[in-house]
Amino acid sequence: MDHQPFEEWIFEQKEITIEENKKLNNHLNECIVCKDLQESWSQVESILVQTPMTAPVSGFSQRFATRMEAKKVLIQQKQSIRYLLVVGLVLLIITLLLFALLFFSFSTGEMIVGAVTAITGFFHAFINLRAMTYQFFHNASPLVIVFGLLLIGIWGVVLMPLWGFTVWKVSKQGVLLK
Ligand SMILES: [Zn+2]
Repeated sequence: MDHQPFEEWIFEQKEITIEENKKLNNHLNECIVCKDLQESWSQVESILVQTPMTAPVSGFSQRFATRMEAKKVLIQQKQSIRYLLVVGLVLLIITLLLFALLFFSFSTGEMIVGAVTAITGFFHAFINLRAMTYQFFHNASPLVIVFGLLLIGIWGVVLMPLWGFTVWKVSKQGVLLK
């Protein structure tokens, strides 16, 4: 959301026209960032009005505006990080689901290998899921392993640009969830 010229109007609220004031109030109703800024600023203003000694305060509003700007950047950073975390989490879940899918397609193979192993009597004491998994990977033809690695590789190739694009977009735009 564009916060201009509303941010400037907040600091010059006494100088702006009635029309501008109306627009500003409309924006404040739907923008938390500017609302926050406006509330903080009106607090400072009331303190300034109550303080009899106004001379040492000159330059204060400028400093305050700078600090508000820094605060705004901080809020944007927080939102960016949250966005990155959500995207990362979603990608992780998709990856885990794919791995689960891969694992379940393996279990059929594991069962066959396990049955064959049981019939032939090999590794009689080690017929459990762990041994079957090991057996499968151990006996799997290089083609299957290459194919599996290829799948993981392709998925990585798909994920990387997506992740890179997200990081680039966030770093370029800064705030996204507004
Ligand atoms: Zn705003």
